Amino acid sequence: MVGEDSGNCAWLATPDGILCYVMGMSEPWESQPRPARVVENRLIARGSCWLSLRIEDEWPLPYRPGTITSVLLEVGGHRLRHPYTVCAVDPESREIALLFRVIQGGNMTPLLSQLGAGNELAIAGIFATPIAALIRPEATSVLGISTGTGIGPLAGFAREALLDPDWTRPITLLSGFRAEVDVPLAPQLEAMEEDPRFCWQLCLSQGSESWEGLRGRVTAVLPKVVESLRAVHLHLVGNGKMISELRAGLLKVGFPSEFLTSETYYNRNVPPDPQVVQQLAEALRGRL
Ligand SMILES: Cc1cc2nc3c(=O)[nH]c(=O)nc-3n(C[C@H](O)[C@H](O)[C@H](O)COP(=O)(O)OP(=O)(O)OC[C@H]3O[C@@H](n4cnc5c(N)ncnc54)[C@H](O)[C@@H]3O)c2cc1C
Repeated sequence: MVGEDSGNCAWLATPDGILCYVMGMSEPWESQPRPARVVENRLIARGSCWLSLRIEDEWPLPYRPGTITSVLLEVGGHRLRHPYTVCAVDPESREIALLFRVIQGGNMTPLLSQLGAGNELAIAGIFATPIAALIRPEATSVLGISTGTGIGPLAGFAREALLDPDWTRPITLLSGFRAEVDVPLAPQLEAMEEDPRFCWQLCLSQGSESWEGLRGRVTAVLPKVVESLRAVHLHLVGNGKMISELRAGLLKVGFPSEFLTSETYYNRNVPPDPQVVQQLAEALRGRL
C-alpha cells in the first residue's frame, strides 16, 4: 500500500484507498500492513458484527475510540480494504474492537463476517483523532449522535470517559436504528446508565408496536432530548445524510461550528434535505 520515500516521507493510502503524500511519516507501523488475528467475530444485533482483533506485532498501539484503521482482507488473490472506527482497545492483550455493519451484497463485509477466532488478516494505519481529544475543553456537556454502527465508537468514548474519575461533564448518546433487533450494545449502555454522568437515548424509525421509547429519525428526535444546546459539544457518527442535515440545521440556528465534530461512514456526498433542515432549525431555535 505504501511507496517508501527518502527521509521521513511516504506515499500513504488513506482509509478509502486514495494515495496521498504524507510529510513527516517516520514510523513503519503507521503505514505498513500489520498482522492481526481474530479473537472474536460475533453478530450482536441484526446486521452488526463485533470484531475483536489481536495485533500481532510489537509496534505501538495508540488506538482509542474514534481513531480509524483500515482492515485488509485477502480473498482469491485480491486485497479488499475498508476503514473502520475503533470502539475499544485493550493495550495489555493488544486487542482492538470494531463494530461493522454486514452489508447484504457488499464487497467485503459479508466475507469479513465469515471470519472466526484464529483467522488472520491485517490492519493498516491510524487515522483521525480520538473522540475524547475532539471535545472542546470549554464544553460543559457532550452529546454523541449516531446512526447504525456509529454507536460503537461513541459507546467506547463514553466508557473511556466514565472510567476517568476526573471526568465531570455529562455525556448523552442519542442512537438511531430501524427496529429493536438492530440495536447492538444495549446491555452495556444500559449498565453504563448507572453512572449519573451518562444517559442513553435510543430512537427507532420503525420500532414494533410495543416499543414505548422515542420514535423517528435522530434529526427529528434531537429537539425532544435536549432542552439547551449551549456549551454542548456534539459529535456525530454514521450516515452522511444524517450528519449533513444535523450540521446544516444546527449552523442555521447559530450553533458554533467548533463545537460540532463528525465521522461519516457512507453517503458522504448526499446533500441535506432542505425540509428536514428547516424543521430542525425551527425546532432548535432559542435553544442556544
Ligand atoms: C472514515 C470511515 C470510517 C468507517 N467506519 C466504519 C465502522 O466503524 N463500521 C462500519 O460498519 N462501517 C464503517 N465505515 C464504512 C466501511 O468502511 C465500508 O464502507 C463498509 O463496511 C463497506 O462494506 P462492503 O464492502 O461490504 O460494502 P460496499 O460494497 O463497499 O458498499 C455497499 C453500500 O453500503 C453502504 N454502506 C457503507 N457503510 C455502511 C454502514 N456502516 N451502514 C450502512 N450502509 C453502509 C454504502 O453506501 C454502499 O452503498 C467507515 C467508513 C469511513 C469512510
